[in-house]
Parts: sequence; C-alpha cells; structure tokens
Amino acid sequence: MAQKDPYDIIIVGGGPAGYTAAQYAARAEKKVLVLEKMLSGGQIASSEMLENYPGFPEGIGGIEFGQLLEKQARRFGAQISMEEVQGVSLTGGSFKVQTKKNTYTSGAIIAAAGVNPRYLGVPGEEEFRGRGVSYCATCDGAFFRDKDVVVVGGGDAALEEAVYLTRFARKVALVHRRDRFRAVKYLQEKAYANEKVTLYLSHILLEIGGQNKVERVVLKDLARGEEKVVPTDGVFFYVGNNPNTSFLGDLPLKKNSGGFLEAGDNMETDIPGLFVAGDIRVTPLRQVVTAVSDGAVAAVSAVKYLEEGE
Ligand code: NAP
Repeated sequence: MAQKDPYDIIIVGGGPAGYTAAQYAARAEKKVLVLEKMLSGGQIASSEMLENYPGFPEGIGGIEFGQLLEKQARRFGAQISMEEVQGVSLTGGSFKVQTKKNTYTSGAIIAAAGVNPRYLGVPGEEEFRGRGVSYCATCDGAFFRDKDVVVVGGGDAALEEAVYLTRFARKVALVHRRDRFRAVKYLQEKAYANEKVTLYLSHILLEIGGQNKVERVVLKDLARGEEKVVPTDGVFFYVGNNPNTSFLGDLPLKKNSGGFLEAGDNMETDIPGLFVAGDIRVTPLRQVVTAVSDGAVAAVSAVKYLEEGE
C-alpha cells in the first residue's frame, strides 16, 4: 500500500461539483487531488445532452462536458486519479483517504461523490440487470432499436430518458405511481407530444419476467385495482437516487432521512476541514449549475480553512 505525499485538499468525486472545486482550489495554488471511481463528469456523463447549462445555447453532450471539466481542472494544476475511495478517517487534524492501491493524506476534504441510481427492489430487477434491466438510457438505449421498453418513474430523469429512448425503441411505456408527474412542465410536454410514448399513470411495476432476458412486466393499475401483463424487451428505472456516502464510514456527519449530507452555507460540515458539494448534500435543487456553484463555494471555504483555520 503506497503512502503518498500529503495534499492540501482531496476531492472525492469527479463530477461538476468535484472538478469545479478542483479548479478553484488549484487556481488558489493549493495542492489538489481529485479521486474519481469511474468516469469524468459523474452522472452527467451518462446523460446524452445537457440542455440547461447556461452558456451552451445548443446544449452540450454529457461526456464532452465531463471531459472539459477535467481538462480545465488539470490546466490549473489539479491532479486526477481514477480510484475508488474506500474510507476517510481523521487523525490529528489531518485526513487519511484510503483507496484500494494507495493511502493519501490531506488537510481538507471535499466530498463531492454525487449519487447512484436507486433500485426499486421488485422481483426480476436484480436477476435481469444487464439482460434488459438498465439504469442508463444513454449507455444502453441503442440495444433497444425497434424494440419495446418500459421506463419507471415520474421525475425529470424518467421523462427526459423516456423521450430519449424513442430514438431507438418502437414503443416506450412510461409507468408512474401517481396520476401526475413530478418532472418540470417542459419535459412533460415533450413526453405528451411524443407518439411513441404511452403513459401508464397511477400504475406500479410489480415484477419483471422472462426466460434469459426481459420479456414482460406485470403492472398494477392502482385506480382500478387490476393487474396486467405488458410484453417488453427492456426496463429502465428512474426512481430517484441514493447519495454516495459509504466512504465516509462512521464519521459523525449530519444526514437527512434520505442519507444526504447536511452542510452550512459555506458547504462546511460539523467536522472541521470536511466540506461537501453537489448532489450528495441536502439541497433544494440538484442540477449541474447548482453542483458547480457548490464546488466553487466548497473550494473557497476549504482554502480559507487551510489558511486561516476557519
Ligand atoms: P426524482 O426527482 O427523485 O424522481 C424520482 C421519481 O421516482 C418520482 O417520480 C417518484 O415518484 C418515483 N419513485 C420513487 N420511489 C418510487 C417507488 N418506490 N416506486 C415507484 N416510483 C417511485 O429523481 P430524478 O428524476 O432522478 O431526478 C433527481 C434530481 O436530478 C432532481 O433534482 C431532478 O430535477 C434532477 N434532474 C434534472 C434533469 C434536468 O434538468 N434535465 C434531468 C434529470 C434529473 P413520486 O413523484 O410519486 O414521488
């Protein structure tokens, strides 16, 4: 296990919040390391198009946006390593960050690890994962050319991805447990206007069936109390997200009932030197624009903490 030279700030997560924090902290001449487990951009890298980020009137591809964030953070001197953080501990005022291969230390930490898709937990979901069950339309949509798919959920992600899937799929059945969507009106209108999308409002998905791959779902119509079998080739789940906080172990941090981390206006937590940013925290809006804002605030706060002990 290699013990690396100390960093000023270690940022866990290479999404919009993490890379913005890296850019700001490195530009303030701090020695910065970003640890990202998978792909630059985080959640946005699995989005086909980022349409609502200011300054890109035509939109920008999610993967491209992630790459640009990384490039800009590197330009100011941030180091980036693709490693999954397994644990963070605090000893004598400095943080120890453990990955599979390395142990890093730093004076401050910014937790910007974002969220992971939530599993619904219905029969067949786990069994058919990767064999018709997916949580990422951008990654898997093209496998469903001229096929039928089901999308579960009623938030922005479900509606955006249901419409995206109509590029490939013959039909998209959108299943939502209530009689109205949570998603913004603009996305609702796009779904209503798309003739490939069939709405199953006030319906829940009871189970997924098939031989070796997804072949059907069983839906329950909550208004009528009836169950129906709908043949399908794939099921995409967009039923919300869980925050990626497990690497923080037992550190005494305040969380809400969903497990999201509480932070103050300066992104500070109850642990001096530990800041949070982006979707991982309790926030009224989870968007790229709010994540980058959080990242900038967290970086400035971390720099101030290191320089002034505040
Ligand atoms: P979300 O807003 O939390 O929506 C989750 C959806 O799943 C809700 O419609 C919810 O139903 C449904 N759901 C939750 N648990 C369920 C269960 N057990 N059974 C059936 N349905 C269940 O999650 P999201 O759509 O992934 O969005 C997350 C955040 O990212 C939001 O802040 C969103 O605005 C943002 N986002 C923005 C964009 C964009 O701006 N283009 C795109 C994607 C995501 P109920 O409505 O009944 O609670």
